[in-house]
Amino acid sequence: MSTAKLTIDLGAILTNWRRLNSMGPSETGAVVKANGYGLGAERVAGALASAGARSFFVAVAEEGPAVRKVVGHEAQIYIFSGHMVGDTQYIQNHDLIPLINSVDQLIYHVELLQNHPFGIQLDTGMNRLGMEPKEWQAVRELALQLNPKLIMSHLACADDREHAMNVEQHRLFLELTNDVAAPKSLAATGGILLGKDYHFDLTRPGIGLFGGLPFEEAKPVVSLDIPVIQIRDIKAGESVGYGNTWTAPTPRKIATISAGYADGIIRAMGSNTSLYSAGIQCPVVGRISMDLIGIDVSELAAPPTSLSLLNSTQRIDHLAANAGTIGYELLTSFGGRYKRLYREG
Ligand SMILES: *Cc1c(COP(=O)(O)O)cnc(C)c1O
Repeated sequence: MSTAKLTIDLGAILTNWRRLNSMGPSETGAVVKANGYGLGAERVAGALASAGARSFFVAVAEEGPAVRKVVGHEAQIYIFSGHMVGDTQYIQNHDLIPLINSVDQLIYHVELLQNHPFGIQLDTGMNRLGMEPKEWQAVRELALQLNPKLIMSHLACADDREHAMNVEQHRLFLELTNDVAAPKSLAATGGILLGKDYHFDLTRPGIGLFGGLPFEEAKPVVSLDIPVIQIRDIKAGESVGYGNTWTAPTPRKIATISAGYADGIIRAMGSNTSLYSAGIQCPVVGRISMDLIGIDVSELAAPPTSLSLLNSTQRIDHLAANAGTIGYELLTSFGGRYKRLYREG
């Protein structure tokens, strides 16, 4: 078999959740949108639920059922996109809690599911989702009479501790929720790291659970091992891959490995990325193809059967930087072709 092996350390995810949880007294939730940041929502949410997480967040209603199946009936599952046309059956049948983003959504929700729980999302400056302050002022009394389960907002710049936007959004969130009895939530991973003032009643970490920045102390969660299909010796002056972009300066040993940009190994990372064999660096040579990559393995004493792209030294954020992107994009781009293996505890 030549599919690459993505190993997901569920124990490391739980360690990261507990570390974030230990940073303050508030409840720590878990964001498992986009199929658990590409790692498998059911496995990830199931593990977190058994470790004590009780509040989960997804992006869209369709992501709810897979999470409900594994977290039990007591846990809360919130939907960031709120209550959209077509969501009602999901919300009702799987007991999901829409985070209402506008007056229109509030009316729609109350019309269709009168006594079904909901939360409120406020826009404190990111201008992405949530009611604007004016909109909120207009419906605040009515909305509060309906007992929202949660009032939340999202920080735009929390990965930069010094950014003035953090303080400004925090101030506005306090102002908008002044005297509100409902539980409140403002912080994702970056917000948790800003300190307890940002935690309120419930935090919403995603990337930090999965070993990514800005949570520098996170334990690495994913490793990726890619089988070698073929190894060949090439002479000085021969080239490798599409477009002949790399030419061997001296005689070299080239391994062709079984993964490519269709698996989320972004083409742009090629020229400054290496794979590893027992700690020895083996650079990518030539262009990354859809399903194959050429690797210079001349430094290895013996021909490798597989090479490691992600491990405890080369982590998602290193690799993402090589492609000019962020760990979030890398994780959620991992293709469906990998064999996903889960390591427990
Ligand atoms: C994705 C998301 C989160 C989680 O963010 P991380 O940076 O991954 O911790 C929290 N809240 C909202 C509204 C989100 O969209």
